[in-house]
Amino acid sequence: MTSFQDLRLNDPITRALAEEKYLTPTPIQVQTIPIVMSGRDVIGIAQTGTGKTAAFALPILHHLAANPRQPGRKTCRVLVLSPTRELSGQILDSFRTYGRHLRMRSALAIGGVPMGGQVRALLDGVDVLVATPGRLLDLVRGNALRLGEVECLVLDEADRMLDMGFIHDIRAIVAKLPARRQTLMFSATMPRAIAELAAQMLRDPVKVAVAPTTVERVEQRVIRVERGAKLSMLIEVLRREPIDRALIFTRTKHGADKVVRGLVHAGIDAQAIHGNKSQSQRERVLSAFRDGEFRTLVATDIAARGIDVDGISHVANFDLPHVPETYVHRIGRTARAGAAGIAISLCDGEEVALLREIEKLIRMTIPVSDRRTDQRRAEGSPATRGAARSPGDAKQQRHGQRGGPPRRQSGRDQPNGRDRPNGRGQPNGRGQQNGRDQQNGRDHPNEAAGGIASVAFMQGKGRPARHRAQRAPHQPGH
Ligand code: AMP
Repeated sequence: MTSFQDLRLNDPITRALAEEKYLTPTPIQVQTIPIVMSGRDVIGIAQTGTGKTAAFALPILHHLAANPRQPGRKTCRVLVLSPTRELSGQILDSFRTYGRHLRMRSALAIGGVPMGGQVRALLDGVDVLVATPGRLLDLVRGNALRLGEVECLVLDEADRMLDMGFIHDIRAIVAKLPARRQTLMFSATMPRAIAELAAQMLRDPVKVAVAPTTVERVEQRVIRVERGAKLSMLIEVLRREPIDRALIFTRTKHGADKVVRGLVHAGIDAQAIHGNKSQSQRERVLSAFRDGEFRTLVATDIAARGIDVDGISHVANFDLPHVPETYVHRIGRTARAGAAGIAISLCDGEEVALLREIEKLIRMTIPVSDRRTDQRRAEGSPATRGAARSPGDAKQQRHGQRGGPPRRQSGRDQPNGRDRPNGRGQPNGRGQQNGRDQQNGRDHPNEAAGGIASVAFMQGKGRPARHRAQRAPHQPGH
């Protein structure tokens, strides 16, 4: 397995990674970092959650440190374009985190906030500028920034930038860059428009891609239910769903045993594995589950680690995990080997905050069915958004209308007025098109094929990228 040492990043960067508790590089990092360090252009097919930010930020920081130079006034050495303010803020946070032991000047240029601060930040020049395309052009046109000294351009989430109508802005920006530069383009999907853009803007690029995420392939649902009604809801789900094999997660060993007792009492053959069982007991239960002697296995997270069973059609979260990354591990037990899978989470009132954290992590809104008996409480509850008529009706929110992965949280997708191409949100033809795109999220025919790479690596490490999202300025509604 490749380690960060093998990637030969400089000491200050390796130290920052160790402080962030990044132990091993993710697949996209293993593939991308050496190529970027060699100076080649890269087209990376990878989505958020794969570690792609570090895949470009680390070798760029390494290059800056290896080739120190005072950036000229009102210039930047590295320009990163991203579709939204939030993503831009996260990318900048990542650069600052990984580059914390380097002397590096960085700035953010995003819409929706006054330009003055950004103009001032650029006066003496910066090493790294992260920007949304609309505001960047405003700064260039206002003579606050010159692009003639850019050594490296990164186009992040290129497909999303195209969907949001930024293509003309991007072309206008690229036209102002030196022809001799390194260009890195990342996109979750590879529709023809992206391939064409890459052909125009990149020079003999190396293509890197990582395998589709399980998260994107699993059909996820949430059932809002009172704590005391969880067992009967689980029984209902297990009776109704076409289950090959179901894996039920509980937070505690005691909880696992209790669920098994309840299921058995209801006539559903179920067994538990958890830390209180001996190794031989666990192996016996697992091999019986594998052989199809019973179809419902109840497990705690720790016990589930060793479970290597294909053909799990359903994962049910009797309790939501306290660590959002654990949710990703859990649902990854289904949809293995390219199969589809269904993940159903029972969520009581105290778990709504955990659900929010999970949705933030996976950047999807999971459809909710409200099965609480006290409907007055359900009314207007945030947990009813996306509510389906019955659990059986629940359809995951999609990017587009034709299918594909679930929709990302809309707050992250919408450009603000100033970021919008073409005059800042007027309801002209393109503006309307943009609006539609935002509502539907991505709508590429090949979107479904585009989800990328395992996110399993994410457990237990620091996540610098998230902080900024919470601080990001509020999006004006339109
Ligand atoms: P990204 O795909 O760039 O949004 O990264 C997803 C998350 O993974 C971020 O919170 C990063 O901090 C984290 N991350 C990136 N690379 C690694 C790594 N090699 N080890 C652990 N966590 C990582």
